[in-house]
Amino acid sequence: MTEKKEYEFGVIGMAVMGRNLALNMTDHGIRVAVYNRSSEPTETAVKLSGGKLHGTSSLVELVSSLGRPRKILLMIKAGEAIDAVMEQLAPLLDAGDIVIDGGNSWYEDTRRREKNYLSAGIKFFGVGVSGGVDGARHGPSLMPGGDRTAYQALKPVFEAIAARTESGPCVTYVGPDGAGHFVKMVHNGIEYADMQFIAEAYHLLKDVAGLNPDKLEDVFNEWNLGPLESFLIEITAKIFAVKDPESGGYLVDQILDSAEQKGTGLWTARVALEQGVAIPSIIAAIDARALSSRKAERVRASRLLPGPKLTRHMGDTRKLIQQIHDALLASKVVAYAQGLSLIGTLSSRNAWGIDLGEIARIWKGGCIIRARLLDLVTQAYDRDNALPNLLLDAGIREVIESRQVAWREVVCLAQTHGIPVPAMASGLAYYDSYRCAELPQNLIQAQRDAFGAHTYRRKDDGSGKVIHTEWLD
Ligand code: NAP
Repeated sequence: MTEKKEYEFGVIGMAVMGRNLALNMTDHGIRVAVYNRSSEPTETAVKLSGGKLHGTSSLVELVSSLGRPRKILLMIKAGEAIDAVMEQLAPLLDAGDIVIDGGNSWYEDTRRREKNYLSAGIKFFGVGVSGGVDGARHGPSLMPGGDRTAYQALKPVFEAIAARTESGPCVTYVGPDGAGHFVKMVHNGIEYADMQFIAEAYHLLKDVAGLNPDKLEDVFNEWNLGPLESFLIEITAKIFAVKDPESGGYLVDQILDSAEQKGTGLWTARVALEQGVAIPSIIAAIDARALSSRKAERVRASRLLPGPKLTRHMGDTRKLIQQIHDALLASKVVAYAQGLSLIGTLSSRNAWGIDLGEIARIWKGGCIIRARLLDLVTQAYDRDNALPNLLLDAGIREVIESRQVAWREVVCLAQTHGIPVPAMASGLAYYDSYRCAELPQNLIQAQRDAFGAHTYRRKDDGSGKVIHTEWLD
């Protein structure tokens, strides 16, 4: 009986993520009660915590063990399971209690769920959690969205368990309703682009520069000491070092070149297309995975479809490596610009008030896209938090200015050699479209008006008046 109301936080779901977040909390002296639908994961978690976690065997027992306002984190399978558990919890909770969904949920579901709990006065938070299993255990990047006042009750715990960088804990109040899950979704979209840029650089280094994994490890380790320093570059260097015990060669060479994907990349593309925000590098990365999965077709096509004969680069290899480095860096900046433009657009359309500089700051540690370059992004929004596009910032322009020639040369070289670089090339096209004062879309408007009477506006008439012309008479 003395245990009643003793626990500060409840965690539901003791699979890898929930268990590690709960253990992370206990490391910081937070008293946590846990529950899992089946009992074994609860027992394992309690054992791993050395008895610090309080295991419960029902939702009623979990809820009654928590102090008020109750704070309960759901770390369970995204989708219907969240709705089911929220429904079971509702009659057990009181107004002011806080339920947090830390899974990878679709942000429109989060908005709906928050509304459903509103009439009972229960606060609902959708929190993006990034950093995988290791992040959950030792410090993730957290992207909480929900009621700003209720966030004050969560802040001390979130700040304690989040990753830390020199600019503080990698968590901030993102915005109301689905803002947290939306930002996490776009984070994953940027992650897709980042991984694809690295894969394209690898393709060029391997097939055009002729580097073997041993050499690639050195190149990536060297890149990780400079402006490309990031988690993904670091792990890529480590991947090149792993040997295959069966063949004695490198393990990376033995992996089937057919990439899989879960839903968040697709969600990012879907929202961007629906909202009319261009994110071509992210979409190119999704397409690249889709095309890669058609392995048998590609093998057949490789024998049938003509292309340039693949030849080794005959010039200065060090120079080529530096050019690929620069193309990778410039492409990365443009992917941030695309992702942040999507977040900024949805933030203003939904009145979320998201601080983009803060988002770049909390991505600097704990999460998969953590990178040194994000400092420049934060600084850009510190200079002007109403930047319509990251590319307009002077500091960001400087990064691209000295590298855009190399970026173009790398894309040309890839195309001359028949090496696909869809994300780098579409990033460059985005950059060139964005800096183009006169695009050819006047012709598209004329075509639309000619075949469908869709009308157009004249450059010399600022009133916005629409005109139709009988083009084909
Ligand atoms: P998971 O495999 O996604 O889900 C398993 C957990 O969900 C188990 O605890 C399971 O309980 C519970 N569950 C499933 N259906 C349920 C239901 N109808 N009612 C109650 N509980 C139910 O676990 P995870 O990998 O730890 O991920 C948890 C969440 O974090 C997911 O939303 C995931 O997308 C997100 N996430 C995962 C990662 C990662 O790296 N894994 C990273 C960031 C975010 P039983 O044991 O009883 O089946």
